[in-house]
Amino acid sequence: MKPLAADVMIVGGGLMGAATAFFLARRGRSVLLLEQGMIGQQASGVNFGNVRRQGRFLPQLPLANRSREIWGRLPSLIGEDAEFLASGHIRICYNRESLGVLEQYAEDARPYGLDLELMSANALRSRFPFLTSEAIAGSYSPHDGHANPRLAAPAFARAAVRAGAHVLEATEVAEIQKVGEDFEAVATDGRIFRAPVAMISAGAWAGRLSARFGEPVDLVARGPQMAVTEPLPYRIEPVIGVCTKVTEEGLYLRQVKRGSIVFGGGDRGPADPGTRRAYALPERLESQVRQIRRIVPALANAHIIRTWSGIEGYLPDDIPIMGPSARVSGLYYAFGFCGHGFQLGPGVGDVMAELIDRGETTTPIEPFSISRFAPNGGLQDSDS
Ligand SMILES: Cc1cc2nc3c(=O)[nH]c(=O)nc-3n(C[C@H](O)[C@H](O)[C@H](O)COP(=O)(O)OP(=O)(O)OC[C@H]3O[C@@H](n4cnc5c(N)ncnc54)[C@H](O)[C@@H]3O)c2cc1C
Repeated sequence: MKPLAADVMIVGGGLMGAATAFFLARRGRSVLLLEQGMIGQQASGVNFGNVRRQGRFLPQLPLANRSREIWGRLPSLIGEDAEFLASGHIRICYNRESLGVLEQYAEDARPYGLDLELMSANALRSRFPFLTSEAIAGSYSPHDGHANPRLAAPAFARAAVRAGAHVLEATEVAEIQKVGEDFEAVATDGRIFRAPVAMISAGAWAGRLSARFGEPVDLVARGPQMAVTEPLPYRIEPVIGVCTKVTEEGLYLRQVKRGSIVFGGGDRGPADPGTRRAYALPERLESQVRQIRRIVPALANAHIIRTWSGIEGYLPDDIPIMGPSARVSGLYYAFGFCGHGFQLGPGVGDVMAELIDRGETTTPIEPFSISRFAPNGGLQDSDS
């Protein structure tokens, strides 16, 4: 069988892979995007939809800012808006210790260009009257917001195809190795793909592929717990989250324009990349309902119409892997986004395309290097 060849081969068609394919194609590179199921079917398509910058690991803010800028111009860039709403994002707190965390974060984030407004309890309730009287303060990020995860990755993939990329669904890469100057991937049905550059963006499945190149990482699959209510009158504009050290209190919610309240948070559940299943646990829902009533008391009687989960990969330090392999030239990684990759997706695609195309990027991504887990690295060409 004659191999299908391109400049760049991308394994994994979530938001990271689809956005990278789009930005690479726009740079004139030929691209093969290989996806075992359907584009955006996994974490990228089932997440909560938070386009949130506040609260992020500070060295990640330049990337998050670049991504936010792209979210704002999706219609002109890819021809669809993925229902992105710059609705604002509010983090409330219940005690003085958490207020201290919010205050410190607001100060530390300012040099990165993220201006947050600290709000007293009175200011909070006069602006957001639906909020609990238990909140003693809040931190408001006016330009953050939310989008529809079902739409984002497929929209990027369609735009990538229009820009010339080849997107192959139902194409599971069983083996990938470097043979001479090229990467060669073999699909489970025997098809062969070749490219001098490869990017692994296989989400919670990526560890098996990075290990193939001598860079094993401790990637654990977990399933954040999600639910949605019946449609209610549209009243809640911002995304709401809680700043707390207590896992159970960590609920987040947003209202979509059609009225439903989407919520998630608290303890994650089990997820199995082998069977491609993650589980929504009834006992987690009970505790989420207690918290949602606490945050917005008016939701006490809202009917829940659906619960779900999705498979996400978590690394020991809770920050992703992004950038070149430390061992194999021409190999790049973008995976392990630890429950917060949706906001970053468009920026990751732009940065990875820039890095692959030009050999460098203007956005700092050094803190995300895979070498922090594979200290014996050292770039070498390898056939394995
Ligand atoms: C329930 C849930 C809620 C979340 N909420 C938020 C949120 O509100 N905000 C936020 O910023 N982030 C959130 N996240 C995290 C975010 O969804 C992810 O970080 C992001 O979508 C990861 O994108 P990805 O492309 O790396 O992975 P994925 O979307 O998982 O894509 C990886 C793709 O690779 C494919 N693949 C794997 N192995 C192979 C192979 N061998 N061959 C071919 N294809 C392969 C998979 O089928 C998959 O489609 C949430 C995650 C979950 C699960």
